Amino acid sequence: MENIDVTNMSVCGGILCLDFINTVSEWLPETGKEYITHHEALIKWTKRMDFLSPKAFRAYEIAARRLEPQQQVSALKYFRQVRQCMYEVMNEVAKKKKVAGPFDQLGDHIRSSNRHLIYKKDAAGTVSASFDEQYPAMIPVWHALQSAASLLLDAAQWNRVRSCPSCGWLFLDSSKGGKRKWCDMTLCGSRDKASRYYYNHKQ
Ligand SMILES: [Zn+2]
Repeated sequence: MENIDVTNMSVCGGILCLDFINTVSEWLPETGKEYITHHEALIKWTKRMDFLSPKAFRAYEIAARRLEPQQQVSALKYFRQVRQCMYEVMNEVAKKKKVAGPFDQLGDHIRSSNRHLIYKKDAAGTVSASFDEQYPAMIPVWHALQSAASLLLDAAQWNRVRSCPSCGWLFLDSSKGGKRKWCDMTLCGSRDKASRYYYNHKQ
């Protein structure tokens, strides 16, 4: 497990905002290993999640690498602050089947990201939205916030938010019967089986 990082960690949230939350090795029993350890890891995570067009990613990458060290530290701090808040809200959603936790705080973060959205219409009349370039380091977090906003506005979707009983990662259960239990069957499903085996055989 030692060599797991942002480039090879499991991605199983099913929606960007939950994958954004699942950037520590586990949330249970307590917050585990940090995968977004430095600014470069945030850039790698953004590339891997693939929510930016290739052109938008290049612009983000260039701008992000030009940041002063102090700005990089602030970007990382903001990432973690928003992630903690989003985790607390979505974890309550998973447990209580209602939107709870520090929702007002999350709402404020969503509002600040909205202020940087620009809507454009191309010649064919297709509308698209992207963020301005005022604070390029914030772009990954703003995308995660937009993803959280669309999730929270859709009750049918947030009713499918689940918390993995083994590691506390959050995921969207899109299985037909709505009975998915584990974040990743190969990780937590088998970990649980192993601990059950141990429990059954030590007596
Ligand atoms: Zn898990």
